[in-house]
Amino acid sequence: MRQGASPAQIQTVVDRVEELGFRAHLSQGEERTIIGIIGDERPVGIEPLELLEGVERVVPILQPFKLASRDFKPESTVVTLGKGKKGEVSIGGKAIVVMAGPCSIESREQLMETAWAVKESGARVLRGGAYKPRTSPYSFQGLGEKGLELLLEAGEIVGLPVITEVVSPSDVELVKRYSDCLQIGARNTQNFSLLQEIGRSGHPALLKRGMMMTIQELLMAAEYILSNRDYDVILCERGIRTFETATRFTLDINAVPVLKQLTHLPVIVDPTHSTGRAALVPPVSRAAIAAGADGLIVEVHPHPERALSDAPQQMKPEAFVVMMKELKAIAEAVGRTL
Ligand code: PEP
Ligand code: MN
Repeated sequence: MRQGASPAQIQTVVDRVEELGFRAHLSQGEERTIIGIIGDERPVGIEPLELLEGVERVVPILQPFKLASRDFKPESTVVTLGKGKKGEVSIGGKAIVVMAGPCSIESREQLMETAWAVKESGARVLRGGAYKPRTSPYSFQGLGEKGLELLLEAGEIVGLPVITEVVSPSDVELVKRYSDCLQIGARNTQNFSLLQEIGRSGHPALLKRGMMMTIQELLMAAEYILSNRDYDVILCERGIRTFETATRFTLDINAVPVLKQLTHLPVIVDPTHSTGRAALVPPVSRAAIAAGADGLIVEVHPHPERALSDAPQQMKPEAFVVMMKELKAIAEAVGRTL
């Protein structure tokens, strides 16, 4: 719509869009209102909408993802976690945000020790898994709701928002009550009923790229979450499967600038699951920030050798603090802060 289009003009366009059998998605920016027209335009043609009063332009978005597309929303989205709480943090702005914590929540002591350590090193979000999507059914599956209670408590004590994975649509409401951000793991990024449930929850979400997903498929998964809700979805590159076996997965560093071009959503990198080895996390994290990532999600454990999951890749707090200092320099070199 033109700058200064009246509410009545906007409503007329919305009504016409719906009459034509599309869904209208209103996005009220500071300067102007954009009405997203969602649906298959081929049978109808939307150009005549340009004749309605107050309409500036009708722009066909050729990408199959619409709400996630930068054509649709040119300004970058900033996602706030822990809104109104101590430790509230924004992702997608100038500041690089590091999320850190153990792979799995194992006990109160383990979690509290990690939470204090990562907070003191400059992490802004506490991570920890309570529902673990393990490759083997015989591996530790997480503490479930008990783990969520510990995570919420630890976040409140140290003053950090918390993020944790949800693996089943029926757990979304429960996990939402305990966490500031719902994590969708690589094994679930194309679980469309989970994505729709998370969309309906209206809660901030972190969507990891599946290990066998293209960038376009990742954006289509984001599109499932975004319909009819705020834009608070963060994307995460965490490595994909290639022929390479020297590392656990292959971090697709290209995905960072490609995603930043294609979408307005914040993009972070997981250097822990992509490499699978703690020693590789610092150099890969530096590369991610240099490539334009808005943040990182890193596994830290006070005693990795005793960890119940992902032992080889979890960093010790002593190594994490050193890495954070190095990352600050990289962030500043690319015009960001940490
Ligand atoms: C995790 O972050 O705990 C995790 C399981 O990662 P991914 O889904 O990327 O494998
Ligand atoms: Mn893990």
